[in-house]
Amino acid sequence: MENSPEELIDLRINPPKYPGKYRCLQVYQCRVCGWMTNGFNMDWAGLPSQDCPYLRKDWLYELERKVVHAKLPHPKSYAEELQKEIEAERSIHSKEITSDIVGNPDFSQKKNGLIAHQFLGSGEFIGKF
Ligand SMILES: [Zn+2]
Repeated sequence: MENSPEELIDLRINPPKYPGKYRCLQVYQCRVCGWMTNGFNMDWAGLPSQDCPYLRKDWLYELERKVVHAKLPHPKSYAEELQKEIEAERSIHSKEITSDIVGNPDFSQKKNGLIAHQFLGSGEFIGKF
């Protein structure tokens, strides 16, 4: 099943009941690289998922390692330094990233999560909307 780009699904109101590829009003952003999409796959168990298309890129391995490391408790100055490094690397590779947006989604509802990477997995599901 698939919906048309003119009729984006509002996940807060009617999450799809059947497996398939869908487009939603909400926008998800990859926690690692910043890639954005409003598409997702609904599986038979009713769990939405989306893999980051840059999952297997070498440069992303280092970036993801830092993002995971930054989630641990650190002294404030070190945490800030780490965050700066992450932002700098994201901006270097931002030209390689092409987001996957169809129709006119609501960017004010942009959220992190849902998109799976190697180590982080998918954090928040659409039930949180
Ligand atoms: Zn990504």
